[in-house]
Amino acid sequence: MSIENSPAPAGNEQEFDLVVRGERILTGDGIAAHEVGIRDGRIAAIESLGHGLVGRKSIELDDGQVMIPGLVDSHVHVNEPGRTEWEGFDSATRAAAAGGVTTIIDMPLNSIPPTVDVEALALKREVAGRKAYIDVGFWGGAVPGNRKELRKLHDQGVYGFKCFLLHSGVDEFPALEPEEMEADMAELASFDSLMIVHAEDAHTIEEAPQIGGREYSNFLASRPRVAENLAIQRVIDAARRTGGRAHILHLSSSDSLPVIAAAKAEGVRLTVETCPHYLTLLAEEIPDGATAFKCCPPIREDANRELLWQGLIDGTIDFIVSDHSPSTVELKYPEGGDFGTAWGGVASLQLGLSLIWTEAKKRGIALEQVLSWMSSGPAKLAGLERKGQLAPGSDADFAIFSPEEYFVVDVAKLQHRNPVSAYDGKTLDGVVGGTWLRGEKVDFTTPHGQLLRRGEA
Ligand code: ZN
Repeated sequence: MSIENSPAPAGNEQEFDLVVRGERILTGDGIAAHEVGIRDGRIAAIESLGHGLVGRKSIELDDGQVMIPGLVDSHVHVNEPGRTEWEGFDSATRAAAAGGVTTIIDMPLNSIPPTVDVEALALKREVAGRKAYIDVGFWGGAVPGNRKELRKLHDQGVYGFKCFLLHSGVDEFPALEPEEMEADMAELASFDSLMIVHAEDAHTIEEAPQIGGREYSNFLASRPRVAENLAIQRVIDAARRTGGRAHILHLSSSDSLPVIAAAKAEGVRLTVETCPHYLTLLAEEIPDGATAFKCCPPIREDANRELLWQGLIDGTIDFIVSDHSPSTVELKYPEGGDFGTAWGGVASLQLGLSLIWTEAKKRGIALEQVLSWMSSGPAKLAGLERKGQLAPGSDADFAIFSPEEYFVVDVAKLQHRNPVSAYDGKTLDGVVGGTWLRGEKVDFTTPHGQLLRRGEA
């Protein structure tokens, strides 16, 4: 790749701020040879290579490089304010940019206060605004007693509302009873907002053996598939009865794929995501005491993973996002490697694209398909019309990706705050060579990210 500054004749109104030229540029028509003209932070022209667009700056891609739309990750726990020692807007958005992600939507919990009223949202915006290297939007939270806040948060630009059907992991973000979830879903349907649900059934989990300790198999048995299956059925029933939009977060249990597919076919307004850890890791390979791999719902067996890939390919699962949910090293690696007390969450914001590309490539899945799962798919969920694709009028959010190169994950070099990774030492295919936000390269020195509101990007 070479970057050039080439002053064009003054007053040339055809001149672009930046032109990217390459044999491999991923637009809605697939990967082809193009020139992309960028003006005022937006994509202003896409032409065939050789057209001769003139830019004040230009980037000439090497044959090994692909210009891809920036990834959109709608499931990130930034944790600031309140648990900034776990993760913050500065470190999270650097990690995102290093991984080719140009937009994140922040989850309403693990920060203190949680984003369950407009004051908490205002505080989030205040702390994020000065530190964001990429664009950041916000989810609100639906908790017992805040139904009257939902409309106000919606009017302040949140993209929808997260709820839990069992203990969330933090006491200040309590779970809803299934009836409360349905009542909130009906409220959200009245202004066409979206309920996004952590779907595991509290009662089923209480009944399951809670042994704790170092053995992964005991942890897996404590979060059985049936807990997910039952909660997902409840979400589907509530969406059907209210006519509201519902989204299943971090699907792990492949058992639920047939009921999800049937609900979608029936016209229930339902979308589903899964995450890199469920698609790349296997319960059979997780060493005892390796609490870096703890997340809820848990990473399951090989056969389950294969069915999740099938669910993506046949469209039952809509897209892939990280569920980046870090904590401090002390909380993630408790003494004795106890799965019972370790923080549940896998940090992978920076690695998602390479993780999925590594697996996809083995399965003969095209890079275009991977980006539709990791960029346009999540953008569509949030109604981010200018994000998730390289098209005229879109924000010029993109990354340069070298799919044939590889690297070894070194946890000490990752940008997120605490050096914990389930992927340390793994060799991954695909290297992100740079990330541009609204036509400007992210330099990791000056934050240029914007705070997004529903309907405005
Ligand atoms: Zn999460």
